[in-house]
Amino acid sequence: MSATRDVIADTGVGGFNASSWAGSGLVRDLRRIVPTGVATDVPLRGISRWRIGGPADVLVRPRSIEDISRLREFLHRRRIPHVVIGSTSNLLFDDAGLRAVCIQIGEPLAHVTIAGTRMTVGSGAWVPCLARRAMQSGLSGVAHICGIPGTMGGLVCMNGGSQRQCIGTVVASVTSVGLTGEIHHRAGSACGFGYRQSIFQDNGEVIAEVVLDLGVAPDRDALRREMLQIMASRRRKFPQKQPNCGSVFKSNPAMYDQFGPPGAIIERLGFKGRRIGGARVSETHANFIVNDGDATARDVLQLIREIRRAVFAHSTHSMDVEVRFVSEEGHIVTPNREH
Ligand SMILES: Cc1cc2nc3c(=O)[nH]c(=O)nc-3n(C[C@H](O)[C@H](O)[C@H](O)COP(=O)(O)OP(=O)(O)OC[C@H]3O[C@@H](n4cnc5c(N)ncnc54)[C@H](O)[C@@H]3O)c2cc1C
Repeated sequence: MSATRDVIADTGVGGFNASSWAGSGLVRDLRRIVPTGVATDVPLRGISRWRIGGPADVLVRPRSIEDISRLREFLHRRRIPHVVIGSTSNLLFDDAGLRAVCIQIGEPLAHVTIAGTRMTVGSGAWVPCLARRAMQSGLSGVAHICGIPGTMGGLVCMNGGSQRQCIGTVVASVTSVGLTGEIHHRAGSACGFGYRQSIFQDNGEVIAEVVLDLGVAPDRDALRREMLQIMASRRRKFPQKQPNCGSVFKSNPAMYDQFGPPGAIIERLGFKGRRIGGARVSETHANFIVNDGDATARDVLQLIREIRRAVFAHSTHSMDVEVRFVSEEGHIVTPNREH
């Protein structure tokens, strides 16, 4: 069994007590930093892609890199734990909700500028939109991400991609905000990109802006057709109606050689349609767990555990989980457990 990856992105600094929200003046102070971007008691199932999760005490949507920096400096000084999210397409929230401050990066940080083959992208930019912008500008290198429903920050943090490609290969540099509000500029080669891996999963920095180094597409129409084909194939292969979080398990190269991708072995073991509570293994693609309406995080985690156990018993290979779990305290963990 591969080593269990546990708490890997606790962006908080400790010392927080849930009962201290009331009367702490925290919300008022946060509104001084981001006047129109602070909401309280937000049902996470209302914003989460999986439609799962209890209430978040406080959700903040910064408008700029300066907002992120001031927020982090403030939260660090007050020793208040916080967690950063994008569009939640790779996250499972705790049924108990979230007692840490939730910083959501999105629309206000969605700028995209192009100079030659360099594309500068705000971390809140919607991935399919920027893939289309690149195509319209005749730039190649990001067609494979055209169907990934996430933000640029989430994509870079996860080093996501499709068609056996990852975004990391075209990242020239990343600007991020550290725990005390300090700004970092890092070359793509210093971002620790590996298969669905980057240093941002561990270092607690908030990605603010990404520069992509793209190629010139020899034929813009061919690029457009390629993207349409990718989209059509995704529509055929992936569940379209029920809420889900994309692939639940990562591919394991050793297992792939012997048994194929996670979906193939999960299907062979008879899991398609297997249900726990409101969570069900999709009949369309066995590496997807869908929410039939009333699924809880507990249901999903139990299903994940069952599948991992069965695959290990059958193949002696461990499948690492790609989806990340956000605990009530604001720890982001990969729910890999012993078999
Ligand atoms: C239908 C479907 C299909 C999918 N297909 C694919 C696919 O083909 N390939 C693929 O790779 N993924 C796929 N995914 C998973 C998901 O879309 C990607 O991982 C995506 O890049 C996550 O982006 P997000 O903004 O939703 O991030 P979130 O899910 O909100 O967060 C994911 C991680 O990134 C961190 N994060 C988010 N924003 C920032 C930031 N600004 N700074 C620092 N850290 C940040 C979060 O803390 C968290 O750890 C799919 C998901 C769905 C629902």
